[in-house]
Amino acid sequence: MTALSEFNIRTNSQTDWINITNQVQKAVSASGINEGICVVFIPHTTAAVTINENADPDVPRDVNLALNLISPDRREFRHGEGNSAAHTKTSLVGSSLTLIVTGGKLLLGTWQSIWFTEYDGPRTRKVHVRVMGE
Ligand code: ZN
Repeated sequence: MTALSEFNIRTNSQTDWINITNQVQKAVSASGINEGICVVFIPHTTAAVTINENADPDVPRDVNLALNLISPDRREFRHGEGNSAAHTKTSLVGSSLTLIVTGGKLLLGTWQSIWFTEYDGPRTRKVHVRVMGE
């Protein structure tokens, strides 16, 4: 079996982390698939998706601080939109995740959540979810 779905989210600031674990789990539940794989794909070039800690809000803050150190705005950038630092962060963090589905649930560690990460917001963004299995 396979199922494709999507949902929209609204980001609230230029850099923003939104926990989308519940929305992705809803897509898995709606698919009726109990054992398989779930792919989460972000169709944007200045936003990304990652798995990280859900307990301490300082974790997203610190990761964003590190990403800003790795990819600051630079005057040498040529891209006319002026958001090359955001494009770079998207490439560093990534546009998709592959997750294990077992017992109809996403297999995640206790402290893990799925985070949509915005680097050029606020915007309305889209998330695609493909679930495959039986
Ligand atoms: Zn751009």
